[in-house]
Amino acid sequence: MKFDLHSHTNCSDGELTPEELVLRADNKAIDVLAITDHDTISAIEPALAAIEKHKLNLKLVEGVEISTSWHGFEIHIVGLNINSQDSQLCHRLEQQLATRALRAEKIAHKLEKLGFENCFDTVKNMAQGKSISRVHFAKYLLREGHVSHIQQAFDKYLARRAKAYVAPMWISIEEAVDWIHQAGGTAVLAHPTRYDMTNKWVRKLIQAFKQFGGDAIEASLPRQNKNELMQLVNYANQAELKVSQGSDFHRVSPYTELGRTLDLPQGCQPVWQDWH
Ligand code: AMP
Ligand code: MN
Ligand code: MN
Ligand code: MN
Repeated sequence: MKFDLHSHTNCSDGELTPEELVLRADNKAIDVLAITDHDTISAIEPALAAIEKHKLNLKLVEGVEISTSWHGFEIHIVGLNINSQDSQLCHRLEQQLATRALRAEKIAHKLEKLGFENCFDTVKNMAQGKSISRVHFAKYLLREGHVSHIQQAFDKYLARRAKAYVAPMWISIEEAVDWIHQAGGTAVLAHPTRYDMTNKWVRKLIQAFKQFGGDAIEASLPRQNKNELMQLVNYANQAELKVSQGSDFHRVSPYTELGRTLDLPQGCQPVWQDWH
């Protein structure tokens, strides 16, 4: 069975529609795909409809990737197997989208002070009322010729400590774990090694996540060496957490692909072990 438990659509900062994403997953021989858009579950319904329409032999895991703040870091908590019909969760995610809109306004204000015009309206149009992201700003800066590639937009303007960075205003990790549990899901710490923090902080984060009631950490990530995988598996075992794997697919590119190089070694507990 091939699992990919972390992916995005154009309902947040991904580029494929929900239908295109499930067709691609099927084409890549994925058996179980989780769609985990940033702070929104609006891709789930169209994705399920597309699976039905094309009679795909693909199991969709209803997911979400929730933004949280922890010691000034922006930490992503993935919820797997949540009930996307849960009205409390839907209401809570609406709040997160409102926080995103407010943050976008603040980022736009900073960029406008730096001389970039009409930034907010343009970015708002790009997001089309969906989950608005720094990626939209990066694309705007690229399109207007202010940067020469997306990474430069993050480095110069959007990343932590960059010129138009806005300090996180997200909920706590603990709240996100509660939201996920109350919607029937499993809480997974996303990409623990991708927060630009030292190893000491990574270990501290994993311990805190366990204390907050978290269930699993992502151990198998894209563009990863074997040492990192084994280290994350060890951290999970030490903290008695399960492990997950996901491509964090956003767009078709030579660097990322659904299901690519995802595998967990022996001696760990995959998060799907007790799924039916
Ligand atoms: P946001 O959810 O608005 O905070 O934006 C975070 C998203 O931006 C991540 O999910 C990535 O897709 C993307 N991202 C974050 N940092 C970078 C970076 N340094 N370069 C390119 N993309 C990034
Ligand atoms: Mn993203
Ligand atoms: Mn993430
Ligand atoms: Mn992601």
